[in-house]
Amino acid sequence: MADYAKLMEVGREAVCAAAIVTNQVQNALDEVRSLTKDDKSPVTVADYAAQAIVGKILRERLGDVVLVGEEDSAFLRDEDNTVFLDATLAAVREVWPDADRDALLDAVDVGAGDTKHSHFWTLDPVDGTKGFLRDQQYAIALGYIEGDTPTVGVMGCPNLPVNMSEPLDVPDAHGCLYAAIKGMGVYEAPCDDPTGEMIRITRLDHIEGDPISVCASVEKAHSNVSDTDRVLEYIEKKYGVEVGEPVRLDSQAKYAVVARGQADAYLRLPTRPGYVERIWDHAAGCCIACESGAFVTDIFGNVLEFSHGRGLEKNRGVICAPPRVHGRIIEAIEALGIRPV
Ligand code: AMP
Ligand code: MG
Repeated sequence: MADYAKLMEVGREAVCAAAIVTNQVQNALDEVRSLTKDDKSPVTVADYAAQAIVGKILRERLGDVVLVGEEDSAFLRDEDNTVFLDATLAAVREVWPDADRDALLDAVDVGAGDTKHSHFWTLDPVDGTKGFLRDQQYAIALGYIEGDTPTVGVMGCPNLPVNMSEPLDVPDAHGCLYAAIKGMGVYEAPCDDPTGEMIRITRLDHIEGDPISVCASVEKAHSNVSDTDRVLEYIEKKYGVEVGEPVRLDSQAKYAVVARGQADAYLRLPTRPGYVERIWDHAAGCCIACESGAFVTDIFGNVLEFSHGRGLEKNRGVICAPPRVHGRIIEAIEALGIRPV
């Protein structure tokens, strides 16, 4: 059996180190933009830098790992993009002072693994690109998959305040990290302190009669807004319970927001025809939310299956909520005849 405590510990070390780098790129957005003459370049640099740091640390601490990362090194290896390569190198040197171009490219390529293994890691180095560029919420999300299921999840949310009464659209100075092992619960720690105490959190089920609070993407193209409204209206009418306007935040930090009891549901209803969710957008978050006591399924109530390649091919959309609210959302989807477009 895998040494899960070690996997979680190394995952945390890797995510914390990557967060130092992404934070620093975020603090220098304009500088990176002026260097590369590209508005989106900071997230490109942060993406490659974070993947390199996670790849390097997993390999150093765990040996020959299989890592399925969102990024690959082709763009950085292109001679036209040397300015990006050097900006990425400058970024990783914050935590990896003796990095050079070849070592950096090698470390990015640790993430070139495929999913045809009984167990593997998957990484979204900067999930919530738009949030990152707005200086709002984003996540470094690392999951460990065994068979169909994420059994370890580590998610760094460098801008997420631990205090739930703080606004979500203002970046926090410390951020939060969530880590979970299947069957062992979920833990919260500061994102900027890899040795900080990990505190176990559990969420209560939604209390009957209380308003239901929901969270969803900021980007309207990533979840069907009108279907979400119809689902919430159905629940309001049928169960006579007030449902608030969705709280909007980028990235899979939405899973953490449900896990810590700040929202009672995360809805991701299909929009674009044929869109298949990517495994790295859900692996860490799914493990974390499930360990808090929430249910995570697709819109038909089927569990997410992580064993069909880089996409969740057998699933459409995602519903994450504590059990009773989850049941009502699935009921509403069925009653309203909502189907993948
Ligand atoms: P969010 O922060 O919730 O808006 O989600 C960001 C993620 O949405 C990105 O990592 C993309 O992989 C994913 N994404 C891109 N296009 C779509 C789409 N049409 N539907 C759902 N998710 C998408
Ligand atoms: Mg993503």
